[in-house]
Amino acid sequence: MKNDVVIVGGGVMGAATACFLARDHGVAVTVLERDPGYSRASSSLSASSIRQQFSQPLNIALSQWSIRFLRRVADELAVGDDRPAIGLTEPGYLYLATEAGAGVLRENHAVQQAAGADVRLLDPAALGERFPWLATGDLALGAWGASGEGWFDGPALHQAFRRKAIACGVRFEAAEAVGFEHAACAVTAVRCSDGRSFAAGSLLLAAGAWSAPLAARLGFALPVSPRKRDVFVLDCPQALPGCPLVIDPSGVWFRAEGRGFLAGAPPRDGDPEEPPLHAIDHGQFEDQIWPVLAARVPAFEALRVRSAWAGYYEMNAFDHNGLAGPLPGWRNVFTACGFSGHGMQQAPAVGHAMAALICGAEATTPALAPMHPARLLTGERWSERNII
Ligand SMILES: Cc1cc2nc3c(=O)[nH]c(=O)nc-3n(C[C@H](O)[C@H](O)[C@H](O)COP(=O)(O)OP(=O)(O)OC[C@H]3O[C@@H](n4cnc5c(N)ncnc54)[C@H](O)[C@@H]3O)c2cc1C
Repeated sequence: MKNDVVIVGGGVMGAATACFLARDHGVAVTVLERDPGYSRASSSLSASSIRQQFSQPLNIALSQWSIRFLRRVADELAVGDDRPAIGLTEPGYLYLATEAGAGVLRENHAVQQAAGADVRLLDPAALGERFPWLATGDLALGAWGASGEGWFDGPALHQAFRRKAIACGVRFEAAEAVGFEHAACAVTAVRCSDGRSFAAGSLLLAAGAWSAPLAARLGFALPVSPRKRDVFVLDCPQALPGCPLVIDPSGVWFRAEGRGFLAGAPPRDGDPEEPPLHAIDHGQFEDQIWPVLAARVPAFEALRVRSAWAGYYEMNAFDHNGLAGPLPGWRNVFTACGFSGHGMQQAPAVGHAMAALICGAEATTPALAPMHPARLLTGERWSERNII
């Protein structure tokens, strides 16, 4: 073993990076996780879907790398005879647009096509033919991912990375990082609330929505904070054959899940920071989401809410994209946080790229440069148009 990397945060991003550091580079890694049950981690509360329909080529490239990894996850993350199953299914995403949004959909589609994504534009007649349960009267266009898009069991992927990491020698410690020791612009140790201290050759901040207070201890302001997103679990007597993850022009989304459906929408009321997770906005479902669902899919007139949950997006208020790369001003500190609701699908590719970056090895994943936190200092936004 060479080096010593300490990772703060054992969610999917920390676990994936730890796994690749140990498995592919033989690095000794310690992961500090304050909540070993992951009860509030975004990785436990995710809708765990993957798409190619981004507006930024790097986001598309990361998802293309990740989908290939997810398809062979049973081999990649096997521990002896234990071959992880994550239930990957690829019915696609379907972005819908009225006349007002059709231009943006076409522009995004051009970027996706150039990147080799298997996304098709469908006019209302083609939409009606492929998805006969969909109301298309007000629509001008849809963009559907014919392959490489769908969903999977995110917590199962997280646990598979964790198990593989441990099998490759990574130590997971139940500990809350509260401060750092440093010398000459390099962190030398991480201090924890229980009085322990962990020596660090390099440090990765992968504390999800709670990464900003840690970076602040290193004098750096990360614009990342916890923003609650509600997910409603629905029953509907009628099946919707081939149902993809549908994004209505209103922003309401839904997808199939087992024999039921999941649905959600951007929050109303100003998106406050870290409201309690139990405060599900059932009023929003009644007033806003359900009417949209019933108008878009007449069969949803008969739906019932079975249950609901909420989790935090690790929202990067600067430009709604990950902050993955070296932390400016420090020689051995890195971040992988702020993925703003698309970090589960990016974890395989970003974890792989971060492991190479931390080791100074050549990356075989797409180069993360546009994601580096240095852009916060230049003020150059790397904005993603397609945020759900
Ligand atoms: C409702 C919802 C739906 C989503 N849907 C999708 C989707 O469809 N597709 C997609 O790709 N992504 C989706 N996401 C986003 C995705 O889940 C996240 O981007 C991803 O899980 C982030 O992983 P992470 O490891 O960075 O953060 P987390 O999973 O939150 O892990 C961070 C960990 O750091 C720990 N920690 C924090 N501070 C400290 C400290 N001081 N010391 C020690 N440990 C600490 C926390 O306990 C936590 O376990 C969704 C998220 C939510 C909430």
